[in-house]
Amino acid sequence: MATNTTQAERHIRALALAKECAALGARMRTIAYVTGLAHTQLAHLFFADRTSAPRGRPPDSPDWYHTANLLNRTEASIFVSIYRRIRELGFAPGEALVSGYKHYLSVCRAHPRISFDRAFDLASHMDGLWIVRTPSFSLVTCPACTSQYVTTVSAHPATNCECPFCKLLARYRRDPRIQTSFPVSALPDVSQIQLGIVALSKRTKDR
Ligand SMILES: [Zn+2]
Repeated sequence: MATNTTQAERHIRALALAKECAALGARMRTIAYVTGLAHTQLAHLFFADRTSAPRGRPPDSPDWYHTANLLNRTEASIFVSIYRRIRELGFAPGEALVSGYKHYLSVCRAHPRISFDRAFDLASHMDGLWIVRTPSFSLVTCPACTSQYVTTVSAHPATNCECPFCKLLARYRRDPRIQTSFPVSALPDVSQIQLGIVALSKRTKDR
């Protein structure tokens, strides 16, 4: 099957991926990068109602991440660590983005702060693909809590001073905003997240 994938099948899969991206709130620019489909086709199929299309400047994560608040940095790290795990299993970037974002939403369901376009931008700057040629982010493991978090590509932390998860846990008892975002029963433990990609696996491995 993998060697007989026809152009029509690839196109149908690109359309299916585009539909999932649109359902997750992606702007047209994002879907065009992820699927390779033309803007005109995407506009006709998914953005006929222009008033519902996301507007404004697209996210720019390298600047954003370093000034973002603790909850945003924590959730960005949760998304990127899930995305990275799916990529390491051999899945294509587009599939890993969509599947990883859905898992992120299930982990941070109380009040998700990372939009699909932000997730796309983070993945792009993580892997040096789509909108950039070289990575600006890397994922490092905190020496104190062993969580993985996003930092600059050249950082090799020997301490946990940058780790958003250590900061979040330290502030948890005195910060109601953090308690609301991560109820005790839903505290993120990324190492235990079941990726639940059986269906995705079947679909992708058939290529
Ligand atoms: Zn830590």
